Amino acid sequence: MTARYSGSCLCGAVSFEFDGEFERFFLCHCQRCRKGSGTAHAANLFLSPERFEWLAGADEVKAYRVPESRRVSCFCSICGSPVPTLNEEHGIVKVPAGCLDSPVPKRPDAHIFMASKADWDFDLADVPMLDELPD
Ligand SMILES: [Zn+2]
Ligand SMILES: [Zn+2]
Repeated sequence: MTARYSGSCLCGAVSFEFDGEFERFFLCHCQRCRKGSGTAHAANLFLSPERFEWLAGADEVKAYRVPESRRVSCFCSICGSPVPTLNEEHGIVKVPAGCLDSPVPKRPDAHIFMASKADWDFDLADVPMLDELPD
């Protein structure tokens, strides 16, 4: 049975829905993903969707292609949040895990491009973990 997922951007202008099963889930530490996400790594799910549709805000979705590369990332032009990127040619969609409003049933498969990770990105499980802002 195919699961249905939905998600949205930070401001809520862009929302989407799709059916499918996640094939891959990578935490990518390459420099492009660090810059594109503004943090230690991107967290992207990949699938060949049986159905994908923008529910709202399709006109607000902008695509950025890194010059002289095949890397394309879509984002909401209002709030700047990453949103899914469809590669129609290869029938694959890259879904930033953080924009999903549905539970994600899959554990990440791997941290990738660890050779490019940020210099502060080590032993993060040892950093204090607080449920809210510190006092
Ligand atoms: Zn937005
Ligand atoms: Zn990357």
